[in-house]
Amino acid sequence: MTTLDVRPVTTPTVTGLRCRECGEPEDLGALHVCSYCFGPLEVVYDETAIAARVSRSRVEAGPGSLWRYADLLPVLSEDPDTRVDLGTGATPLRPAPRLGERLGLDDLWLKDDTRNPSGSFKDRVVTVALSAARALGLDTIACASTGNLANSVAAHAAATGMPAYVFIPSDLERGKVVGSVVYGANVVAVEGDYDAVNRLAAEVADTRGWGFVNVNLRAFYAEGSKSLGFEIAEQLGWRFPDHVVAPLASGAMFCKIDKAFGELQRYGLVEGSRPRMSGAQATGCSPIAEAFERSSLDVRPQRPDTIARSLAIGNPADGYYALQVADATGGVIGHVSDAEIVEGIRTLAATEGIFAETAGGVVVANLRRFVAEGRIDPGERTVAIISGNGYKTVEAVAAGAEPTYRTSPSYTDLERVLAG
Ligand SMILES: *Cc1c(COP(=O)(O)O)cnc(C)c1O
Ligand SMILES: [Zn+2]
Repeated sequence: MTTLDVRPVTTPTVTGLRCRECGEPEDLGALHVCSYCFGPLEVVYDETAIAARVSRSRVEAGPGSLWRYADLLPVLSEDPDTRVDLGTGATPLRPAPRLGERLGLDDLWLKDDTRNPSGSFKDRVVTVALSAARALGLDTIACASTGNLANSVAAHAAATGMPAYVFIPSDLERGKVVGSVVYGANVVAVEGDYDAVNRLAAEVADTRGWGFVNVNLRAFYAEGSKSLGFEIAEQLGWRFPDHVVAPLASGAMFCKIDKAFGELQRYGLVEGSRPRMSGAQATGCSPIAEAFERSSLDVRPQRPDTIARSLAIGNPADGYYALQVADATGGVIGHVSDAEIVEGIRTLAATEGIFAETAGGVVVANLRRFVAEGRIDPGERTVAIISGNGYKTVEAVAAGAEPTYRTSPSYTDLERVLAG
């Protein structure tokens, strides 16, 4: 495994990388896995330096984007030119009384990440990964994607003038292909599912010297998801909710929200007990939920077959860690059918005015099940993560989406039509 030849960086709060499995330290750089045991890597912070600078007031005085949490993110350079900012983050956290009533929840909130610049939560991870790539002096950016990540990498690369190569399964939704091509990225359609795309990307990353945001920049990339947890707590007045329900693909976002809550506690920004963390999958790709049902930490890879393409990772890199988080916090992990996903998208749109992609339908449908099965108490303050925009996956709800009435432009005709 090679480390890319990168610019040395000096950073105020990040000291290096470390293997999540064996603890072996590694230098900061674009590195895929531990050189000792091939385990996944994580960023190591100088916790004393962070504790000395971070505070609620510093966050509150910061920009209206995820960079208000810069003290808690892997910033590799103080040079503002390396920082990418398309306005990602600081998305609305809204009470959802109408959806809550429909589902039987008295205190439901929605974190509306459909509002990010390229329409999904992936802008959070890409903002952080691309900034790290620039600090490290990489000149080409790439990713292996189920669609949303490709859109986000393409958008951010365009805005920074970097060439981008995005690798996607060849049969993705039209909206997600167009949403990468339009930004001028090199779109590489691979005949195979995401897991095949990912294997190819790992080979390319090792030989070409490109910065793959979710391969050799993954340690930095994954940290971007913490901003979801930071925002939820700050938006609730520096308080934790009782329960968070999030969609699971690789499981990284889920784990990082929990990690964010832990950091807020450690640095004294929020008091109280950590939220329960529950995860949502589609039945057609439910390796983490399936392990949860067996009360096992051993995730068995699946071949995905679901309309929830953005969550269709059959061999999830963080599945094991996600199961640990659910266990440790008293959460659950469930799965729902494609029909329930479609119903979930429609219910969310019709009750709260948010048009979500399939991943949002997965969350809403799982919420419904958790309530029905008594796994969420109706009184719990529950935050559901709505992670992607519905205009990317209109196919999911296109069937039967016809005008309610048709009329000529004459008022008498309209009256007749409305009268039925
Ligand atoms: C990528 C993605 C997720 C979850 O990603 P993880 O791999 O679990 O971090 C959730 N929702 C949408 C819309 C996504 O694109
Ligand atoms: Zn290791």
